Amino acid sequence: MTKKAKIIELLAWTTLLLGLAALGLSIYQFPLGKIDLSLVVFTLFTVFFSSYLQIQIPRTKLYFTISDTLVFIALLIYGGEVAIVLATFESLFTSLNFKRKGISIKTKTLFLNGAIAALSTTATVYLLRYLFGSVSAIAESGTLTNFAKMLCAMALAQFLFNSIFVSMFGASKNNKSFWEIWYENCFNALIIYVAGAVSAGFFTKSFQQIEPFLIMATTGVSALIYLTYRHYLNDLKATAAKAEQAERARAEQAERHIEELQHYINEQELTGQELRESRERFRHVAFHDGLTGLPNRNYFIESIKTLLEKSKQQTDTKFAVMFLDLNRFKTINDSLGHSAGDRLILHVAKRLSALVREGDLVARFSGDEFGIILNDISAVEDAVHFAGMIRRKLLTPFTITGKQVFTSISIGIAINDSRYENAEDILRDADIAMYYAKDRNKDFMVFDQTMHTRAVTLLQLETDLRHAVERDELLAYYQPIIDLATMSLKGFEALMRWQHPQRGIVPPYEFIPVAEETNFIVPLTLWIMQKSCAQLVEWQKRSPLNKSLMMSINLSGKHFAQPDIVEQIRWIIQETGVDPSCLKLEITESAIMENAETTIMMLKQLRALGIRLSIDDFGTGYSSLSYLHRFPIDTLKVDRSFVSTMEDGSENGEIVRTIIALAKTLSLDVVAEGIETIHQLHQLRILGCEYGQGYLFSRPVPAEDAQAILDDKMRWQNVIPNNNPASVAQNREFTHLRLAN
Ligand code: C2E
Ligand code: MG
Ligand code: MG
Repeated sequence: MTKKAKIIELLAWTTLLLGLAALGLSIYQFPLGKIDLSLVVFTLFTVFFSSYLQIQIPRTKLYFTISDTLVFIALLIYGGEVAIVLATFESLFTSLNFKRKGISIKTKTLFLNGAIAALSTTATVYLLRYLFGSVSAIAESGTLTNFAKMLCAMALAQFLFNSIFVSMFGASKNNKSFWEIWYENCFNALIIYVAGAVSAGFFTKSFQQIEPFLIMATTGVSALIYLTYRHYLNDLKATAAKAEQAERARAEQAERHIEELQHYINEQELTGQELRESRERFRHVAFHDGLTGLPNRNYFIESIKTLLEKSKQQTDTKFAVMFLDLNRFKTINDSLGHSAGDRLILHVAKRLSALVREGDLVARFSGDEFGIILNDISAVEDAVHFAGMIRRKLLTPFTITGKQVFTSISIGIAINDSRYENAEDILRDADIAMYYAKDRNKDFMVFDQTMHTRAVTLLQLETDLRHAVERDELLAYYQPIIDLATMSLKGFEALMRWQHPQRGIVPPYEFIPVAEETNFIVPLTLWIMQKSCAQLVEWQKRSPLNKSLMMSINLSGKHFAQPDIVEQIRWIIQETGVDPSCLKLEITESAIMENAETTIMMLKQLRALGIRLSIDDFGTGYSSLSYLHRFPIDTLKVDRSFVSTMEDGSENGEIVRTIIALAKTLSLDVVAEGIETIHQLHQLRILGCEYGQGYLFSRPVPAEDAQAILDDKMRWQNVIPNNNPASVAQNREFTHLRLAN
């Protein structure tokens, strides 16, 4: 048992003993003379029934019982001892009654209640006696003021003593402070004691001064008032219960409403969440590449923008933008199929992603183009070093559908500097540098300003070229092709010139490559074909001697990607009425070899039109001999570079000799380009080269000048002294013998 429990126990027993002593003393001093029927009835009523007559004070936990009033009446009329005994027994009986009703009260508590009643009433009685002398005397014959004072003192004292005991035991039981219990449970009871004392005073005075009959009437009226009040309170309770029920119903409805609202809010939140997610998805799609999942060009540009902003504030931050393009991707796509091409892109994306550091960015633009941002580099060398790493990483072949695929990549690098305002500009420069790298067969190139200047010039050239067609600034020049055996005119090669308003005549090597790159070559070719065919028809009409005149026209390799080129040529033949057997199309060796199979098909179609075909610049490309005999061609044109440097016994001389021998084996004609000296002419004639073309005979000339050449076909007869076919044949024999040695 704890110390506190022990104290409580001690306190309880002390109270019990003191209560018992107080009761004993009261019984001992009981005024036996006052015992009569009215006291017996009064006592019985007080002890056994008074506690039933109780009313709860509205909105409090307090019950107004008339037992307190009756104890006060007993005190005023019959004296203190009667009041103590009555209070004790009434308290005992009421507690017993609670126990009977099932409220758990320990027997000891039951007696403790009796003891408290006995002690507090005893204390009140003795306090009143101390303050007012005889209580009964003041009640009977004292002044009304004294009587009122005594009633007040009685109420206060009884309240005070009772509440002290109750709070003391309540605090020790509930582990709360004395004041807490007093304030919570007892303070409000003051009103009961005051009301009890006032009613007791009223009854006492009535009892003393008025006839018993009237008292009974007063009691009856009081009972009536009591019952009416009780009825009224019950009504009040019922109304309150109804109101409470209505309130509860309203509360429930409000709760339901709140639940519905909550549900609605939840749904809204869900919709919001879905909206946010779908916005995220859209954002992702808008900024990412579908195949690789890498950021796309938009994302890349946005990232550059952010970096440019940052570098405006921190001028020492450097970053590199790299533009990457796979080499020969088209070939892989065409030969292995598009899904294999996609796989290759995926593999490359993975390797590149594995190479970059955190904070860098890999993006895929389209097709075989990628972009990389290298963040926070200290110098250009960092980017160059990184480009080397990419090259090495791509050296290992990729395995796609069981096949090993090799690829390489061309990289253009642009480093940010204060000149760059737009993200697009820095990306454009990386792109230009990449083209340079590709063009020069380099792995990478770092952008410099001259590249940009050239790119701008090219762009300008392209625009000007479009205008040139519209303004009729293009010209067809004609260079004669000579039969070397007879030294007579065989035909012409049509060569394009551009009569530039500022620059004068622009040679084809300046604009043909640009036209090829932009596919503008197609309308250009059709234009010169139309022009030269019409010119040939005109010349042929002029004289029957021109009937067998040939016209050679250059056909760019770019045309092989145009499936309708054959149709267009057929249409030009029809339009101009030219004899197709007088037409010869020159295709460069490299263009033919680039896409041999499709070229063969197209050449066959052209051949079917009756057109002759020639391989231009022969010897500069890498003709595969296995292909050569499959090409439906008529002529090999020996490149100028071999002719211009051929000397007796030199390597180039050997090459020319071999080409001529090859042509003979394949039953092809041979034309030698770029004959500038008589010596070269002699050599070629000795080697048996059939045809020649070069400045020695004539430069390419406008149609009017070509007309003059036509009128004098044999003008070159005198170029070679003692020219006669027999001496050539002699020489040929001799050369053969000599070479054989
Ligand atoms: P190509 O088809 O091999 O034409 C021969 C080029 O050699 C011509 O240059 C011609 O002027 C030049 N040439 C001829 N004899 C000599 C010589 O003795 N010495 C020197 N140094 N050069 C000589 P041109 O006219 O400047 O044309 C260059 C190239 O441009 C042509 O080479 C051809 O590939 C291309 N080209 C010219 N016109 C056209 C065209 O209408 N269409 C296409 N696709 N290409 C054209
Ligand atoms: Mg040519
Ligand atoms: Mg040529």
